[in-house]
Amino acid sequence: MELNNLITQQWQVIMNNDYHFDRQFWYGVTTTKIFCKPSCPPRPPIYNNIVIFTAPEQASAADFRPCKRYRPFNQIVNNQIWVNEIEQV
Ligand SMILES: [Zn+2]
Repeated sequence: MELNNLITQQWQVIMNNDYHFDRQFWYGVTTTKIFCKPSCPPRPPIYNNIVIFTAPEQASAADFRPCKRYRPFNQIVNNQIWVNEIEQV
């Protein structure tokens, strides 16, 4: 599987935790194998350790784990899934 290269604009978005770009791309840190959305506060350590995903499923397929704290999957679940989760509680 070929991963997308980080581009300068995406790096800026990550460093600024710009939530406007949430759902447009996700980034993974190759050293920790964790991925998150651009607005996640922890700063990625090194430019060269970042890979970009166009969907969280793509990150999972590449053996990256979702960030526990900011849960990159949660923002893309649709309303029906939310309803199901609420009903199960
Ligand atoms: Zn995160």
